[in-house]
Amino acid sequence: MRSNRLNDCMGNLDQYVFPGGYELLYVTPNGEIVCADCANGARSSEWTPHSLVRAFIHWEGPPITCQGCDTEKRSEYGDPDEPRYPEIRLDIDLSGPDGNAHFVLGKVVEALYRCECKPVEVDKYIGEATRDDYDNLLRVTRRWINLDG
Ligand SMILES: [Zn+2]
Repeated sequence: MRSNRLNDCMGNLDQYVFPGGYELLYVTPNGEIVCADCANGARSSEWTPHSLVRAFIHWEGPPITCQGCDTEKRSEYGDPDEPRYPEIRLDIDLSGPDGNAHFVLGKVVEALYRCECKPVEVDKYIGEATRDDYDNLLRVTRRWINLDG
C-alpha cells in the first residue's frame, strides 16, 4: 500500500490515495488550498512540492475551489444535501425488470462516463456501490447522482 507522505519516489506529489482513489489536496504555506496538479507546479510556479504544509482528503461538504487553477474539487462523500454529480439524473423503474443491480450499476457507470468522469472516479463508484447488498447500491447511487424511481 502506498503511504500518505507528501512525496513519492519521483519527487512528485500524489494526486490520489490508493486503495480507494481518494483525491489529495494540498495546503500551501500561506494557507491556500491547491490541487495536486498545481502543487506539482503544472499550472503555477508559486509552489514547490517541498514548500507545502500538508496533504488532506476533502471528505465531506461543498466543493473546494483550487486557488491555483480555479477547478472545483468535489468532496469524496459529497455535500450531505446534494449528490456528487447532481447534473446526472436517471429515471429507473426500480420495482420493474430494470431495477436489478446490474442494470442500475450499468446505467450509472454509462452516465458517469458520458459526464466525462475520470476512470478513477468511476472505479470508486463501482467499489462503493458493490461493497454490500442492493440497499447499499441504491444508497451509494443516490449519494452520487439524482436517482428517481
Ligand atoms: Zn489546481
